[in-house]
Amino acid sequence: MPKLRLATTAPGKPEIFHSLQGEGYSTGQPSVFVRLSGCNLHCTWCDTAYTWNFNGTDFDHRDGRKYDRGDNSLAMEIADVAEAIRAFDCPRIIFTGGEPLLQQGVLAQLCALLGDAYHIEIETNGSVELLAAFDAHVDQINISPKLAHSGNGEDERINALALTAYAADPRSWFKFVIAAPEDMEEVNALQKRFNVPVARIFLMPEGVTSEELRTKEKWLAQLALQNGYAMTDRLHIHLYGDTRGT
Ligand code: SF4
Repeated sequence: MPKLRLATTAPGKPEIFHSLQGEGYSTGQPSVFVRLSGCNLHCTWCDTAYTWNFNGTDFDHRDGRKYDRGDNSLAMEIADVAEAIRAFDCPRIIFTGGEPLLQQGVLAQLCALLGDAYHIEIETNGSVELLAAFDAHVDQINISPKLAHSGNGEDERINALALTAYAADPRSWFKFVIAAPEDMEEVNALQKRFNVPVARIFLMPEGVTSEELRTKEKWLAQLALQNGYAMTDRLHIHLYGDTRGT
């Protein structure tokens, strides 16, 4: 039976949980989250660095912390993942990460096992293309292309083929993490370059505390209005703080 590599909430406990979607188009929707381990990018402010910043790697993160791979990830057979999802009796599933599309072949098999009763939403950094086998199961794509302030090189974070396809896909919603007002120049350039529909773009403040989010939202709201984009909060941070499994 194929296995997925999942993040954990504690050693040996897969990060599969029931919560309200905290960001973007589906904010507030009850959802089962499945957090996958592993990412092809290494954002300096990533709030799930335990999915990739393992001991022995030379990635930089602003908190300077490293994680034990065995404690912070586990391999789980898809039959067991399906059982854990079904136990919540919730029709919306969100595959998140890390970068879930690194395991999209196995995710396709999991979706086939789950059947058609679920709305499948994915959260991706947009640098990995969606392939046919998994694409057939996906109802909503939340793409968060990373800007220069993430610390990733442009050749790593911008995949022109993938972003062109996502921008033309009616299932797509884009979300840009904004750390400073100057980031808008980059957002507008990406919007134009890939012809992303303006009405499908959310600006989201970078931050992992309510205070940080509220402070940035004061100027971000004005930038959203000026540019015609939507703004999204991070509901889960206000409700639960920056904690795993929420
Ligand atoms: S792409 Fe997402 S999961 Fe990966 S390092 Fe950046 S913020 Fe973290």
